[in-house]
Amino acid sequence: MDQQQQRIGIMGGTFDPIHIGHLVTAETVRLAFNLDKVIFVPAGLPPNKQSASITSIRHRYIMTVMATYSNPYFFVSSIEMDRPGPSYTIDTIREFCALYGRKTEFFFITGSDAVTDLPTWKEVDSLLTICQFVVAARPGCSIAVDKAINYFDGMQRQRIHRFATKELEISSTDIRERVKKGFSIKYIVPESVENYILKEGLYANSK
Ligand code: ATP
Ligand code: MG
Repeated sequence: MDQQQQRIGIMGGTFDPIHIGHLVTAETVRLAFNLDKVIFVPAGLPPNKQSASITSIRHRYIMTVMATYSNPYFFVSSIEMDRPGPSYTIDTIREFCALYGRKTEFFFITGSDAVTDLPTWKEVDSLLTICQFVVAARPGCSIAVDKAINYFDGMQRQRIHRFATKELEISSTDIRERVKKGFSIKYIVPESVENYILKEGLYANSK
């Protein structure tokens, strides 16, 4: 296939830690939207999260690599890791545009909870021009998602795709709490990630 006409999914997240909710969502969207690859982008410093409470990007990046390694369509980018300051999606997608060329189509994959404040994202109009959004349904956010999507006019709205997925009630917050309490996280994260968390003692004393 012509390299320039690729369809690329971008899965941004804190991935603290990455879990099977992220992986199943990315794989399901990849197949449904006929994507050539999905690039996972661990956020350096997410604009909406308290930096003090987040695990170091090095650990989050390593876990993301381990979790995605066995899928030939999954890749991990250190683009936000290498950039100082808060991680804004517009800056990241612009960097990918420069890397892959104008003909590449980008699909930013998010869960529905992450998209409820989309109208406030940095340079959102430009963002919707250079990439489309795929919003995977997650429990309990439907009305807020509709409101966020309806904020945009027809042309922009067409670039935000709602995508109904099997709703896996898994979150990194829940995983961190389980580790702290000494509960099992088996099968909620890949085995390699589980082993890494235990070996490095991550989340044992998390707030
Ligand atoms: P936290 O609880 O720390 O916020 P999280 O589980 O929401 O973590 P993030 O790294 O914040 O994970 O999310 C990255 C992206 O993955 C977001 O777009 C989020 O909406 C989406 N996501 C997270 N969990 C799921 C899930 N179980 N199913 C579908 N999408 C998910
Ligand atoms: Mg989240």
